[in-house]
Amino acid sequence: MEEPLGEREWNEARREAELLLQYTLRVDRAWLFAHADDEVAAVLAGQFRCHVSRRAEGEPIAYITGRREFFGLDLVVTPDVLVPRAETELLVEAALERIAHDARARIADLGTGSGAIALALAHERAHARVLATDASAAALAVARANAQRLALGNVEFAQGEWCAALGAGVFDLIVSNPPYIALGDAHLEQGDLRFEPALALSSGADGLDAIRIIARDARRHLAPGGWLLFEHGWDQGAAARGILAALGYAEVATLADLEGRDRVSQARHEDARVMLEQASQ
Ligand code: SAM
Ligand code: GLN
Repeated sequence: MEEPLGEREWNEARREAELLLQYTLRVDRAWLFAHADDEVAAVLAGQFRCHVSRRAEGEPIAYITGRREFFGLDLVVTPDVLVPRAETELLVEAALERIAHDARARIADLGTGSGAIALALAHERAHARVLATDASAAALAVARANAQRLALGNVEFAQGEWCAALGAGVFDLIVSNPPYIALGDAHLEQGDLRFEPALALSSGADGLDAIRIIARDARRHLAPGGWLLFEHGWDQGAAARGILAALGYAEVATLADLEGRDRVSQARHEDARVMLEQASQ
């Protein structure tokens, strides 16, 4: 017999069922509660059951509804992109702390997927110019469509491997949520991850291959005093700092998420005399 659901799981299942019902009926949550006793047409009930069984098979709810909210933005997501995670909002917040509201900062987001990070930054910093890159053309198409839907005109797109996609570009801030799960990690065979692109999830035997390449190459694309910020696994903080320090970056540090777990590491181009705000005037 399966374990009975705990309170947290029960609440989560209920919330997801509500989301799927909202999606099926094309209504918002308030409508759902105001019409809790209404009958549902048989065809819609059938569609709802179909959505529920897909979810029960493990498919991420965002792939079923085609939507996910990130940093207040309503994003389209498809199986070509990672489902944006709530924990990645920490990377966006850390990036925003380094860009003045009116700065004409140059920003690059490596491995943009749905565009989540790039579009959140472009939305919050209207004077910044953001370059969103990905090796996957299919992912980039989703990101581009999201920028269009959200009418964000200060984002550009480039396809290519990590910093190669930047051409000769120089940036005040380079951000990335790269793949960082170790190949062979059991989590890849569990839950939502089974449905997400392998290219978005795993990176070498210890999960750090992408981070090593990004850290090595980003220096050539950072303005003096510019910042590199990237997300990583909760147990990769020390390794990430080691990689950054060995490359000669300054101000190497790791930021923890709300649960106190290492989540984002930062580093600054060694010549920090020119402040980001000045560099971007
Ligand atoms: N930035 C999005 C987010 O936070 O939701 C997606 C992050 S996902 C973890 C990593 C992204 O890196 C994927 O979109 C994947 O296609 C891209 N990627 C993987 N290998 C890459 C490479 N060699 N060069 C550029 N992008 C790559
Ligand atoms: N944060 C994702 C997870 O562990 C992994 C995404 C990534 O590798 N960047 O579910």
